Amino acid sequence: MVVRAARATDLADLDGAVSNCFACPRLVSWREEVARTKRAAFREQHYWGRPVPGFGTPDARIGILGLAPAAHGGNRTGRIFTGDRSGDVLFAALHRAGLANQPTSVAADDGLTLRDTRIFAAVRCAPPDNKPTPVERDTCAPWLHREVGLIRPTLRVVVALGAFAWAAWWPVLRDVYGVRPPSPRPVFGHGAHWSGTAAPELLGCYHVSQQNTFTGRLTPLMLDDVFARAKQLAGVD
Ligand code: SF4
Repeated sequence: MVVRAARATDLADLDGAVSNCFACPRLVSWREEVARTKRAAFREQHYWGRPVPGFGTPDARIGILGLAPAAHGGNRTGRIFTGDRSGDVLFAALHRAGLANQPTSVAADDGLTLRDTRIFAAVRCAPPDNKPTPVERDTCAPWLHREVGLIRPTLRVVVALGAFAWAAWWPVLRDVYGVRPPSPRPVFGHGAHWSGTAAPELLGCYHVSQQNTFTGRLTPLMLDDVFARAKQLAGVD
């Protein structure tokens, strides 16, 4: 896994390689079962049913780090945060921030493009109950690390969506930037900010899950504030 990820010479190479990863038996079985059984509303559609690559520009200054694809979202459409309610909220916010050319993301061929931004997940396959195991998280980490390594020349800020993504960032410091992660680790919170030398700044943001957005724990205004701050830190107009 580490070797396959490290061999990727550019993002297209990485995206192709990760799409053919079968390293986690439980997740492979789950992603394929979901793709076979489908949700009733999508039964006429062909599900992607494979690992979901990152999405966005290769010269991104802002990275958005999520947890994992949704079973009937990214695992169905093949694009991260696409085709589910979490993505509806996220891409509407990116559009308001001027980082996306349209406010919706419904299918891999819907014409969506991002500006200065790339979105990726800590775990690339949809997990049951949105809960990868620690072993699955660690097995998948080389894909994230290589992706960050490839956009390292421009990457200035990473927005971690939720505590899982926040925790997944620290090993990137060591493996990609050769920087020792802070100890103790900074605590995740909405609006949390970590800044170190020789590595991107890290911003915490509540995850755009329905659990958070339907209850008002995370509002559009709160998202707007996070992306305004990310743009400012990244030097994006
Ligand atoms: S979660 Fe990551 S490491 Fe595991 S099978 Fe999917 S892409 Fe491979």
